[in-house]
Amino acid sequence: MSTSIPVRNLATDAVAGSKIHPRKFRGFFRRIRIAGGALLFILFFGTVWLSWGGRQAVLWDLTEKQFHIFGSTFWPQDLVLLSAILIICAFGLFFLTVMAGRVWCGYTCPQSVWMWIFMWAERVTEGDRNQRKKLDQAPLSVAKLCKRTIKHGLWIVLSLATAVTFVGYFTPIRELVTNILTLEVSGAAAFWVFFFTAATYLNAGWLREKVCVHMCPYGRFQSSMLDKDSLVISYDAARGESRGARKPGSDYLSQGLGDCIDCHMCVQVCPTGIDIRDGLQMECIGCAACIDACNSIMDKMGYATGLIRYTSERALQEGGPLRIFRPRLVAYGVLLVSFIAILVWAMVSRPMASFDVTKDRGLFRYNDYGQIENSYVLTVLNKSHHAQAFTLSVSGVAGLTLIDDTRFYVGPGERLEQPVSVAANPDELQSSLVDIKFRLNAAEDPGGDLVQESVFTGARQQ
Ligand code: SF4
Ligand code: SF4
Repeated sequence: MSTSIPVRNLATDAVAGSKIHPRKFRGFFRRIRIAGGALLFILFFGTVWLSWGGRQAVLWDLTEKQFHIFGSTFWPQDLVLLSAILIICAFGLFFLTVMAGRVWCGYTCPQSVWMWIFMWAERVTEGDRNQRKKLDQAPLSVAKLCKRTIKHGLWIVLSLATAVTFVGYFTPIRELVTNILTLEVSGAAAFWVFFFTAATYLNAGWLREKVCVHMCPYGRFQSSMLDKDSLVISYDAARGESRGARKPGSDYLSQGLGDCIDCHMCVQVCPTGIDIRDGLQMECIGCAACIDACNSIMDKMGYATGLIRYTSERALQEGGPLRIFRPRLVAYGVLLVSFIAILVWAMVSRPMASFDVTKDRGLFRYNDYGQIENSYVLTVLNKSHHAQAFTLSVSGVAGLTLIDDTRFYVGPGERLEQPVSVAANPDELQSSLVDIKFRLNAAEDPGGDLVQESVFTGARQQ
């Protein structure tokens, strides 16, 4: 889906293979991107410090194999719910892409957000685009060394803060920070902090757009999700061509020129170094920097803004209004909302206990009353944050009885292993191997009774 326009033979930074130095710019979409990035930043750095019910509000406790999130705890047994969340996120991204192209990449993807922050650090230490280009080419001097040292120092501080925060979602952050400050951090925690510091520094400082262009799979397959009505950032070739320089206020139409003054501002602000006038390209991360840059030029020239704008292929080629809420998108939206509703229901009604029954390896024995007894080990996990009382019952053979206590308590988050014996009259056995059912009832559990199947072995009375 690329717009066919004549392409000038002017190499961009990306084409020339040199480092990309985007120019500073201002505009409406930049403000939206800053707001989106700030929100992500605050959520990422702030959430990890929140407490809920006496423990860190969001914590993936690897030692205990529990995921705590605002008072709810998920266990390995709930993995299916976490998988469902990931599938819904992927579907949400798919929905967003069909609607508005790579808005996720441009506004809220952590790779982009951190890349813009690192670029900001580069700009405040080394200056804007032309100053940075000059600095790259300048021989080593004290001034150059100082600027580079401050820049890399800032990058390392940002990377370290990111790494400590990220690791803090897997090991209690307060403990982690205290241990780092007192140099008592464990080897494993130190390794992961170092690893994520290096990864952030490399990704956001050095690799930048290369991650989006060459490493991110989403960038590769997003074009297959777009249709003719998807919102994408496009250059209006019909209005812009023929491009060319002109004097402000001149009658450029009579000279055969379009609205594009060929100033290259859209290329100079692009973080991936491409020329949007060449059509939609895989390298475009949808950041809208070129829209802001071109709009400011249009304003200066006294032309209407929107030479580069959010539009669809259909609107660009056939004219007419955008068709955002088309049937395909509405169907995806309904599916997405349904998935979310099912997930919420599954989370609210999930059982707050799980149990398992393991039959003892011994076959059976006769007790003092002439009954046949089988032994089992019951494992009950209380997934709630308070003690629960459970009642056990068994069925499958007439007169089948539990020998031991049928009622017991399990503390919050605890796992209980309880041996139990089950007895039956030999007359009641239909065969030497009978299917039976254990039923565990927790009075307060919204999920109802938990049932586990097992077998009862014995010798049938002749
Ligand atoms: S072409 Fe425009 S929207 Fe795409 S990455 Fe470059 S500046 Fe951002
Ligand atoms: S910023 Fe606008 S006017 Fe300048 S080259 Fe790009 S499209 Fe043309």
